[in-house]
Amino acid sequence: MELELQPLALPGVPEERPIVIAGPCSAETEEQVMSTAHSLANRGTKIFRAGIWKPRTKPGGFEGIGVDGLAWMKRVKEETGMLVSTEVATAKHVYECLKAGIDILWIGARTTANPFAVQEIADALKGVDIPVLVKNPVNPDLELWIGALERINGAGLKRLGAIHRGFSSYDKKIYRNLPQWHIPIELRRRIPELPIFCDPSHIGGKRELVAPLCQQAMDLGFDGLIVESHCNPDAAWSDASQQVTPDVLNYILDLLVIREGKQSTESLSELRNQIDECDNQIIEVLAKRMRVCREIGTFKKEHDMTILQTGRYNEILDKRGAQGALCGMGSEFIKKVFEAIHEESVRQQMEIINK
Ligand code: PEP
Ligand code: MN
Repeated sequence: MELELQPLALPGVPEERPIVIAGPCSAETEEQVMSTAHSLANRGTKIFRAGIWKPRTKPGGFEGIGVDGLAWMKRVKEETGMLVSTEVATAKHVYECLKAGIDILWIGARTTANPFAVQEIADALKGVDIPVLVKNPVNPDLELWIGALERINGAGLKRLGAIHRGFSSYDKKIYRNLPQWHIPIELRRRIPELPIFCDPSHIGGKRELVAPLCQQAMDLGFDGLIVESHCNPDAAWSDASQQVTPDVLNYILDLLVIREGKQSTESLSELRNQIDECDNQIIEVLAKRMRVCREIGTFKKEHDMTILQTGRYNEILDKRGAQGALCGMGSEFIKKVFEAIHEESVRQQMEIINK
């Protein structure tokens, strides 16, 4: 299904990149919401975010302040002039938000993964003109992401956007949610006019990753950023480790380098130079590896050993497959590469042994 879209057209928000949405993970108290909102507004933020209903992995945690928080969002709007946004996961959330004058809604990653829930939200939004941002589903499934956008669009909503918040994985060594940038890039290719926001807070899961992820998103041509910012991050009731103060956010945004389209051919050729340099290094390292293999061949010949030592070969495949996965590459791809390298190494050793 072809999406029928219109620009987000956010009143009072400049059209230039990045469109920034900032605010705490959760609305906790009226003081926390107002203090964070005023600090952000004073530093130029035009769109405020705060979670009112929080989908938590386990029961017993803080599950959001609920409708009381909507009155605080109203106050934010009145006192700062910012637009306000929050997450909806049910039809009831939608009705409450519309009643409270929330300006922008977003659908959370866990909800996007559930077509029944998305359809319920779409039905509740029929006939309403409000911007809706759809986060990627927790699992790396582009069709599910597009399907959710289609459901909302099918209800007549045309001001849509996507939020890339990374994809859940068992391995959480660097990122809380793996970026898998090729997925939002493919979304851009499939639906070029759809604005895409990056959520560096939920991808990174830690403060120090917010800045580099924002820069990466800008370099990839994303339209906006949605960043968690809290007046006292360490004391946050949810996602404390990934929230930054309004001051730090301001600093991060100030340092961003925004490369606009007209420079892209220049930066493209610069990137191609970098690729050439990488390829050069790959060849040199491979040649070095083959020299070492031939030395091993000489050793095996002198000691009358067989060329193929399966234990060692399997160890290489497993170890490098896992390492590749850690670095964001498919372990199957790495295994294929190492199989090819191994084949050539064996061929070179055979030459030595049969000399
Ligand atoms: C959030 O934005 O606070 C949130 C719950 O995000 P996600 O749906 O991406 O986990
Ligand atoms: Mn959060």
